[in-house]
Amino acid sequence: MMKEANGAPAGESRFDVVIVGAGFSGLYMLHKLRGLGFSVRVCEAGSDVGGTWYWNRYPGARCDVESMQYSYSFDEALQQDWRWSERFATQPEILRYIEHVADRFDLRRDISLDTRIATAVYDEAAAEWMLTTQTGARIAARFCIMATGCLSAARLPDFPGTAEYRGRIYHTGHWPHEAVDFSGLTVGVIGTGSSAIQAIPPIAAQARQLTVFQRTPNFSVPARNRAMTETYEQSWKRDYPALRRRAREETRSGTIYEFSDKGALAVDAETRRHEYERRWQQGGANFMHAYNDILLDKTANDTAADFVRGKIRETVADPRTAEALLPHDHPLGAKRICVDTEYYETFNRDNVALVDVRRAPIERLTEIGLRVGERDFAFDAIVFATGFDAMTGALDAITISGRDGTTLKQAWSAGPRTYLGLMSAGFPNLFTVTGPGSPSVLSNVIVSIEQHVDWIAGCLVHLRRHGLGRIEPEQAAQDGWVAHVNEVAHRTLYPQANSWYMGANIPGKTRVFMPYIGGVNVYRQICDEVAAEGYRGFRLAGAPTRQIEREQRAAG
Ligand code: NAP
Repeated sequence: MMKEANGAPAGESRFDVVIVGAGFSGLYMLHKLRGLGFSVRVCEAGSDVGGTWYWNRYPGARCDVESMQYSYSFDEALQQDWRWSERFATQPEILRYIEHVADRFDLRRDISLDTRIATAVYDEAAAEWMLTTQTGARIAARFCIMATGCLSAARLPDFPGTAEYRGRIYHTGHWPHEAVDFSGLTVGVIGTGSSAIQAIPPIAAQARQLTVFQRTPNFSVPARNRAMTETYEQSWKRDYPALRRRAREETRSGTIYEFSDKGALAVDAETRRHEYERRWQQGGANFMHAYNDILLDKTANDTAADFVRGKIRETVADPRTAEALLPHDHPLGAKRICVDTEYYETFNRDNVALVDVRRAPIERLTEIGLRVGERDFAFDAIVFATGFDAMTGALDAITISGRDGTTLKQAWSAGPRTYLGLMSAGFPNLFTVTGPGSPSVLSNVIVSIEQHVDWIAGCLVHLRRHGLGRIEPEQAAQDGWVAHVNEVAHRTLYPQANSWYMGANIPGKTRVFMPYIGGVNVYRQICDEVAAEGYRGFRLAGAPTRQIEREQRAAG
């Protein structure tokens, strides 16, 4: 294959499989398929591996799933060797881990960095995908695997006046590589989602003055992060294979928490308060598992939500600020629960102010800052913590044309339509890792990634073994799955929130609950059964003559 100086492909090259993205998904997919003898190319837009952990370098960025669980399980030596330094790893540490994996398994030689894919077109006659990079290089492959991530298309609201603003603008999801120093500066942060809630305390500790613009208050629980202890690390490592199996096969979230088999209303108020307090002191998203109906029953949910609102009132000294920070518009956890370090405490600092922009929205950027209602704010820097076009944004950014020329964006205009979150009718041989319609963002995503990668690899081996060159979901199977995803979502409280799970954060995006809420354990079983039954619901077909001839020629 021809290569440009930076390792990006030039001219035209051909592989069995092309993978888009070199984050957790793309790297493991490459490792797995290469080990099975497929020729593979990974195209990555960034200048290095890491995906979301490459881009999200904002201050305070860390994972809200514990390090011992937010890591690959596919290689026993890797999981024994790697040492996490904290209960919840920071972004730099996770990125070092990903880089270590890339080096350890010699993955870099099959990855083209700085290679953004612009289009992917399915050639029906050749039964292959032709991908074109932004610089015009072409990569052909029988199979195309989108490992583009669920939260990778950063979203900057299009406020008028952005070009007029003379200060510095940052987005949490696109943070610069060099350290950003806010010392002595007046800073505005827009947003109060997970990213903002992590970034606000360290920015406040540096800046001269910080103003937080909040449209919707969120629920956040304390992380109680701490250094990893040898004892805790060993409690996992001693029994890693069994614990990982349990997370995969026996939990809905792919994470081992302290699950309860009781409903919140099955116990008295004092017992409940005690249990919430115990979990609050322990820290982390374990709080959500105090009772098994918190996300199913609004009355049960209210008990936990009231507890958190009480904690906010207790923590924030100024009663008006505390009141403004109380979430009332959605059930606890129906938007992803945030996990913080001193978020609410930060509003007790003299240099931090909260501005509620619900009633008087941010109108525009000006030369000096922001205009909100009648007020002008001056800032040296504005941080947009305004989130992502989740689940579909990164796919929409590539023009993906299927069998009859319809684009994926058109096919999904009324919401994403997939079979098992893995494939979409009309787009043969195109897979999505943790695509919409799979547990993905509702789970420990590494567990979901490994499950998808293993399933896709098994599928490609099956096709190869049977001399088949094409796979595509049947329309009826896909329609059935979409209906099922929707139906199970509506048995829960999730659809009651205007969340990014619903596409509600993007103006004009169809509101559909995108991830599959049935649980990673149930979902895995369904996927395994589908494969065991000869890929039930998929249409499998032979490779077209043109491709077989070309492969025979290549084989000499
Ligand atoms: P987000 O949850 O979508 O939050 C975006 C914030 O920006 C919201 O508060 C939103 O307000 C606000 N916003 C957007 N447009 C606005 C406008 N025009 N005016 C005022 N406010 C506006 O995004 P995120 O915080 O980046 O988090 C996204 C997801 O990434 C998380 O839910 C989580 O899954 C993942 N994440 C995880 C971690 C972690 O592991 N710890 C850290 C960061 C992110 P509204 O709510 O009113 O729309």
